Parts: sequence; structure tokens; C-alpha cells
Amino acid sequence: MCSNHDFTAARAAVLRKVGGPLEIEDVRISAPKGDEVLVRMVGVGVCHTDLVCRDAFPVPLPIVLGHEGAGIVEAVGEGVRSLEPGDRVVLSFNSCGRCGNCGSGHPSNCLQMLPLNFGGAQRVDGGRMLDAAGNAVQGLFFGQSSFGTYAIAREINAVKVAEDLPLEILGPLGCGIQTGAGAAINSLGIGPGQSLAVFGGGGVGLSALLGARAVGAAQVVVVEPNAARRALALELGASHAFDPFAGDDLVAAIRAATGGGATHALDTTGLPSVIGNAIDCTLPGGTVGMVGMPAPDAAVPATLLDLLTKSVTLRPITEGDADPQAFIPQMLRFYREGKFPFDRLITRYRFDQINEALHATEKGGAIKPVLVF
Ligand SMILES: [Zn+2]
Ligand SMILES: [Zn+2]
Repeated sequence: MCSNHDFTAARAAVLRKVGGPLEIEDVRISAPKGDEVLVRMVGVGVCHTDLVCRDAFPVPLPIVLGHEGAGIVEAVGEGVRSLEPGDRVVLSFNSCGRCGNCGSGHPSNCLQMLPLNFGGAQRVDGGRMLDAAGNAVQGLFFGQSSFGTYAIAREINAVKVAEDLPLEILGPLGCGIQTGAGAAINSLGIGPGQSLAVFGGGGVGLSALLGARAVGAAQVVVVEPNAARRALALELGASHAFDPFAGDDLVAAIRAATGGGATHALDTTGLPSVIGNAIDCTLPGGTVGMVGMPAPDAAVPATLLDLLTKSVTLRPITEGDADPQAFIPQMLRFYREGKFPFDRLITRYRFDQINEALHATEKGGAIKPVLVF
């Protein structure tokens, strides 16, 4: 590391125009102040939200994306109490820590969620990330901007983990895997003997499968067009895996596989027709969770009378309703017990292959790419 009192020299993937590409550039990061921590990145996952922010969702440019970082604390601000240099951390989403939802253990519903995570957050004391020419680059994307060799995060979103765990691949526990597993465990509250129909066998859907199995779900059905992903779902404990384009009656097949209907369903696609199937295969009194990013004009594909007569609850879910400081350790306990093999979802790439890894996320070539440094 090259640093002085004021700045740490780093390499970071900078997004300068909508649609990309991300260019790896020399940057300087000012020292952590207040509740900030400087983290040397060891691995960072690629999540669908990185693509959305590269291509469409308005974020201030230039910016460093990346929000599934894992690394080692290098320095801490004067206000940090629970972390010190040398600690291994997984970085999760940012939250204010002060609003009513944060105070009641629901930071994923933080009233400041959008400004704190999508590029509007300011560093303590006006600290900055600067490019080689001395121009400002936006950091703190999801409280981390972890597509770089070093990142500034905050004490509230840096979760300490044990030294014997494979730090390089732990980053996705901070977003994608937390979103799927948290949806099953926290939001839907699945328990022993219950059933879950998961629509979409990508990183979030398969993490929901792992979470549901870890807490004892009886049947988990995965609906996914990609044959390799269906095969993986079955290896990871799915009771059935259906191809939605096979031409059969999908809703009837799911009902048959779950003893008349699933107690819970989870949509990861954001597609109204798929959410319609999720509603139809769920038993009365059941809940359909929704984590997929919908098109701006997409609407719920059911009438109010449908919902009333079926008595199905629709449940939009952000970040798996997780408090990362509690839920990441919980997932790691399941992992140690052999009940949560999330490592099966991961494909490693070098940091300089970042655009390739984003492409693989987009085209389905990898379920969960992780960039290693
Ligand atoms: Zn808050
Ligand atoms: Zn994410």
C-alpha cells in the first residue's frame, strides 16, 4: 500500500458514462474519519443492481460501483468502537442507524435507504475519492463502492467475520445471498414442514432455496428455464425443478409437487406473468414474496377480488429484511454446519476481468461472479 496521512492510493473500476464500460483507474482515497473504516478488498461479488446502476438507474457519475465487498480493515476513524485494523469484514448495505426502522432492527427499510445507497451519501468531514487528475469520483455506493483495491465503508455496514472463513468469497453474503436467504427466512418466515415455490434459479433464487432448506422447509420447488441451473437446484436440495417453457401446466405441476399448493412463493423475476403464476400456485393464506426488479410500468397481475378470494399476501422485499450484523453471522453458522453451501453458487474472476464478470451476470454465464484481488 502506498499512503500518507491524507490519502491511500488504490485502483478502482470507475463508471464514467451510462452503460459503461468500467475502467480500472488509479484513485486516491482520503483517510477514514468518524465512523468510517478503510478496507483492503480481498473479494467482491457482482450483483444485478450493479448492472442496473451501470445502465439505467440514475447514480451520480463518475462513480465506483460494487456492493458485495469482503476485506481486511486497514484503518478506522476516531469514532469507530467495534472494529480495528486487521479485522476481517463483509460489507453490506448502508443505513442511517437512527430512524425508527433502523431502531427496530429493520435497517433494510431505513428511511434514508435510497440516498445512502445509490450514490448520494457524503463522507464524514467531506472526505473524498479522487482520480489521477485530482477530480472527484463518487464513492460510498451502498456504503462501500467496493469495485476497487481499497474502499471506505462505515462501522454500521461492516460485519466482522472469523479468520478461518474463506474471506475471498464472503462478499455476496452482504447483498445477493442475503436477499434470497433473508426473503425465505426473515420475510416469508418459512419453517419446518412448509413449502416454497421459487421463480428464477439465479443467485437470489438459489439462495432462497438454501435458506428455506437450512430452516427445514419440506418442499422447495424451483422454476427456471436453464437446465444446468435446474440440475444445480436439485443438487442443493430442491424437491422439484421445473422448466417454465416445457409446455406443461406449470401451476398444476407445482400444486401437485407441494401437496395441493405451496405455503409460500418467491418471485425473483419482476415479471407480471410469473408473479401471476406465483399467486395461483400458493395456498389460501399464503404469502408471495417479490424481490425481482420490475419494469417501471409493470403492475400486479391480479384483481383485488382475486387477492381477497385467494387470501394471498403480496410481500415486496428489500435486502431480505435482514439486519446484516445479525443475519450474516447466522448464514455463516448454517454454512459451518453444512446446511448452507452458498460457495456452490460462486465463480471466481480476477479484478481486471470485471467487465467480463458483469457480462456473465447479465447473460447468465455465471450465477454469482466474485472478483478476487
Ligand atoms: Zn435508518
Ligand atoms: Zn445487490
